[in-house]
Order: sequence, then structure tokens, then C-alpha cells
Amino acid sequence: DTTSAPNFIRNQIRDEIEAGRTGKIVTRFPPEPNGFLHIGHAKSICLNFGLAEQFGGDCHLRFDDTNPAKEEQAYIDAIQEDVSWLGFEWAGAVRFASDYFDQLYAWAQHLIREGKAYVDDLSADEIREIREYRGTLTEPGRPSPYRERSAEENLDLLERMRVGEFAEGEKVLRAKIDMASPNINLRDPILYRIRHAHHHQTGDKWKIYPSYDFTHGQSDAIEGITHSICTLEFEDHRPLYEWFLENLPVPARPRQIEFARLNLNYTLTSKRKLKLLVDEGIVDGWDDPRLPTISGMRRRGYTPASIRRFCDMIGVTRADGGLVDIAMLYHAIRADLEDNAPRAMAVLKPLKVVLTNVPEGHEEVYEVPGHPARDDLGLRKLPFTRELYIDQDDFMEEPPKKFFRLAPGQEVRLRNSYVIRCDEVVKDANGEIEALHCSVDFDTLGKNPEGRKVKGVIHWVSAEHGVPMEVRLYDNLFTVEQPDRDKDADFLDHLNPESLVVCQAIGEPSLAEAAAESRFQFERVGYFCADRHACRDGKLVFNRTVGLKDSWAK
Ligand code: ATP
Ligand code: MG
Ligand code: MG
Repeated sequence: DTTSAPNFIRNQIRDEIEAGRTGKIVTRFPPEPNGFLHIGHAKSICLNFGLAEQFGGDCHLRFDDTNPAKEEQAYIDAIQEDVSWLGFEWAGAVRFASDYFDQLYAWAQHLIREGKAYVDDLSADEIREIREYRGTLTEPGRPSPYRERSAEENLDLLERMRVGEFAEGEKVLRAKIDMASPNINLRDPILYRIRHAHHHQTGDKWKIYPSYDFTHGQSDAIEGITHSICTLEFEDHRPLYEWFLENLPVPARPRQIEFARLNLNYTLTSKRKLKLLVDEGIVDGWDDPRLPTISGMRRRGYTPASIRRFCDMIGVTRADGGLVDIAMLYHAIRADLEDNAPRAMAVLKPLKVVLTNVPEGHEEVYEVPGHPARDDLGLRKLPFTRELYIDQDDFMEEPPKKFFRLAPGQEVRLRNSYVIRCDEVVKDANGEIEALHCSVDFDTLGKNPEGRKVKGVIHWVSAEHGVPMEVRLYDNLFTVEQPDRDKDADFLDHLNPESLVVCQAIGEPSLAEAAAESRFQFERVGYFCADRHACRDGKLVFNRTVGLKDSWAK
């Protein structure tokens, strides 16, 4: 049920290679360092790095850093860490579009000399108005009054823009292409804007910054990218991408190929909206385990393999696939952890049990498998004592029929241990249950009780040896499938108030040694991961990755 879905780009490249039309392929993953990466980016990472891996090519990591106001070194660091954690290696050093600012500037001058670019004094609003005259593309746009400036004047103005003689917004450089084109991107697009901003890579060297469109294809060409893969929003930009390559003396001719972006239900895959959740303190930073960021998923307990597996399962198409069910992501991690996570017992809502026929100080230690099917995961030690904890949900004072757990006068098996019977419910002055008094049938260790059937098996932890730990139960951050479906509706209205529930739990003693990021199946409860930050601070905190029940139906 977890076979790979079709990937049209992979098929296309395979055909090209077989037909001898493509030699070594070079792809790139080009994030803008203005936020953390999310699961949508993982799709692009798996695609670009995966193709390079599969066809013996290279994949570059290139920061698309043309907007200094929104970018930060911290994002650059986090993005590199995420890509590496996913298990991919970029070819050569990390690259930056800003490495090419000198070359791009020289190419802008080239376009001016060829009569294919001009400095425009109109404001951003005025340019918007004339490009889409009367608000429609069926009518031609109107030329700017500055469109026919001489090359000499344009070169001079651009140079003065570069060194900071003009204020932000006073002038822009535009390509001179076709103000009547039905494609707005060809209606004299903006190549450079004035920005008096400090840049994380180039410092204060530049007072002008190139647009995405003027940067991307040329950076691809400089790096010898063969397949420049992007999401469908850029389909309409492709003619412009090609126009630059045709009109500039670039060293190579990359091709742009578009695919459908990933959208997941019950979450958001927009950096801008995720940033709002972080900035407003609605979540605990970019790596909050409820976020679909790669670092959030990591902290939640996802493995790199499970994320890559998920990306394989969703496939790559040109048709917008609508919303992918998050249950599929849960399925991918559950399948991984089912096979690989050691087992442990932990009681999330502790209820004290006193075994009245076990003497004080008595102790037995069971050696039980770390995993039912994985001998390599070894054995763990489970001490059994007079006082235990079981989960409150495993006891009912007035049980319905077919409640096979513990109830007054009823028997249940303690996992890996004896059958016990509940003899007495001990309550405090307010009538709250304080403890259960139970008795052990000592003739039931590793065998069925005589003359009766005991159906239920529950988990437990020795009260004396169990370790207190915090357990964070994470659930979907939103209560609706598409929190940002209505453009102006506020996705913050759909936050799930129960997306995080914290329990003070008791775990079996072996959990005291859990390393940061180690993953477990807490038997009968779910899959959990030791929180990387809490562990560093010497605290025992487990994050619920996913429950045990799979609801993904293909
Ligand atoms: P966002 O829309 O979340 O702000 P972005 O597209 O602005 O993301 P970039 O840093 O520019 O973020 O993206 C880097 C690469 O990841 C781009 O090639 C982009 O197409 C791809 N990408 C971003 N979001 C998705 C997605 N949801 N599905 C697939 N690919 C994506
Ligand atoms: Mg972008
Ligand atoms: Mg975007």
C-alpha cells in the first residue's frame, strides 16, 4: 500500500537520457531564507535531490536571497540543517543568488545597451496601473513616458541607483519587452528595485536588488542547471525566464519545468502564515511539533525516511492534486516506527494499584523484548513491585458490558506479568478514587489462569521504580481541513484548542535513559519521541508523534 506514485519529471528525464538528449543532469533547490522549510519544501527537496541521486547528477543548494529585508542568517542555518537531516548532500559549496549580483548587474547594462531595458521613474502603483490598463489584460498596457530614454541616460541612472543616489521607490529598472502581451509578465517587468537595506551576504554594497525573475534563470544558467524545477505558479513566468536566456550572453540554457505544489489538510504550507503563528506566539517557535515545518516534524518524532517515503507516495504531477490527506503522512511515520521503534510502557494518567498479597519490599524483574520482531533491539528490564500505576482509562467503577479491563471484582492481565483482580476501590473524603486494592493470581505468569478466561491486557509501571515524565500529546493545529481556504477569512479562527495536551506521566525505568530524539512505541498508547530541547536541559519529556490507529485509506 505504500508504493511510489507516478513522477512525470523522473519519467521525462529518463526518456531524455535514453534518447541521448541529456547528459549529466544538474538540479537545484532554491529556498528564500525568509523562514523555515515546511513539508511542501520537502516535496521539492526530495524531487530535486532525488533526481540527481537517481540519475547520477548533481543538486545544488542555492539561497534565493534577493530580498534582504525579509531574510536572516538564522534561516540560512536552519535550512541547511533541515536538508542535511533529510539525508541529502548538495554538490559543492552552498550557493547564493547574491554571489551573482555583479554578473546580473553587468547583464542589466547589456540589456540597456541593446535597447532592451530602461529606468522608469513611475511609482510602483503607477506601473501596476499602466501594465494592466483599465484592470484587464485583454487591452494592451500603456507605455511609460520614460520608456524611450537613451541607453546612455539609462546606464547613468542605473549606476546612480546602484550607489544610492535615489530613495527607495523613486526609480526601477524595467525590461523593454511587450506592453501589449496577454502575459503580464512580459509587459516590461521590473528587473531592479532600490532597497537601502543591509544584506546578510553582501552587506551594504548594493542599494539596488534584482527581482526574482531577473535572478532565477540567469543563476540557473551560471550554475549549469539543466532542469529548473518549480511549482505551477511560475508557469506564466516561463516565457520571461526564456526571454532573459535568449537576450543575454548566458553560458547555458536551463529549462524550467513546473509541477503541482503540495497542500496538506488540517495544516498550512505557507511560510508567511507559519511565520505569523510563530511571531504571535501561538506556537512554540518554528520547530513547534504541531507545525508542518521540517524541524517541527523532526521534533515531533518524524524520521527522515518517513518524510522521504511520504514524498514518494504523493508523486509528482502537473495537475493540481488538491489537498493531500494528512493521514497519509501519519501512515508513513507509523509504518516506520512500527518496524523500528523499541517498545516501552508508560502510564499517561496514573492510577495507583496496591497488590495486597505482594509483600512490601518484594521485587521481581522481567526481561522483555525491546521489540516483538527485532532481536537486535535487545531486552529491557521491567521491575514488578507491590505498588503499581495503571492508566485511569483502564479502570471503570461501573463498567459497561464487554469492558475487558479492570473493574470491581473483575480480572485483567498486567502485560508481561500476572493476572490481578480488583478487590476494593479506595476513595478520599471527596469521593475521588485514590487507589485500587487488587490481588495477584501467582499461578498466571506466562500461562493462562485455571478454569476461566481473562481477555484484557493492560500496561502498568512499578510505582517504586517508574520515572516521572512529561508527555505532550499533539494533535492537528486546525479543526478544519483547509484553514486558509477563504482568502480573507482568518485562519486563526480555526485553531484547535486541544492541539497540545500535557500529561504528567510515569514511564518504565528504562525510559530514564532515553537519548534526545529517541523514539518509542508506548504500548497501547502511541508513538513518542524524546524532546530534543528538554533532553538537553536534563528533563524527561516525550512528544506524541502519532497514535497507533491508522486511518489512512488509499
Ligand atoms: P511559501 O509559499 O511557503 O512561502 P516559497 O515558494 O515562497 O514558499 P521558497 O523558499 O521560494 O518558498 O521555495 C523553495 C522551493 O520550494 C521552490 O522551488 C518552491 O517552488 C518549492 N516549494 C515551496 N512550497 C512548496 C509546496 N507547497 N510544494 C512543493 N514545492 C514547494
Ligand atoms: Mg519564493
Ligand atoms: Mg510562495
